[in-house]
Amino acid sequence: MDCIFCKIIQHEIPANTVYEDDEVIAFKDINPQAPIHLLIVPKEHVASIMEINDDNREILNKIIQVAQNLARQNNIDNKGFRLVVNTGDDGGQTVKHLHFHLLGGRFMTWPPG
Ligand code: 5GP
Ligand code: ZN
Repeated sequence: MDCIFCKIIQHEIPANTVYEDDEVIAFKDINPQAPIHLLIVPKEHVASIMEINDDNREILNKIIQVAQNLARQNNIDNKGFRLVVNTGDDGGQTVKHLHFHLLGGRFMTWPPG
């Protein structure tokens, strides 16, 4: 499948990986929008949050757990951070493999652009 995140998961293209287990990988965004900008990605190819169903929704618990751990490791658990899932064209999703952006290390304005 022509999916850049699947290629990272298969180690076909390199990434700056900060966490990996059997179900989830997390790596630094190639075009960071904040001092800390990580992508937390299920290893199973799920196109978007709209593809979550009873067969795969357990992965969301796992991703939240990884996000908490990465927030602690990056010392942004107390200061705060933003966990973002862009979905579809209007949501600004450019990679059609579900991923959570973990953004922190600066104040996040609201509303987002
Ligand atoms: P989206 O726009 O789909 O919400 O987020 C996709 C993110 O993936 C973007 O922030 C983009 O910078 C990042 N990205 C795209 N291609 C690569 C890549 O090859 N490696 C890494 N590390 N990040 C990528
Ligand atoms: Zn994929």
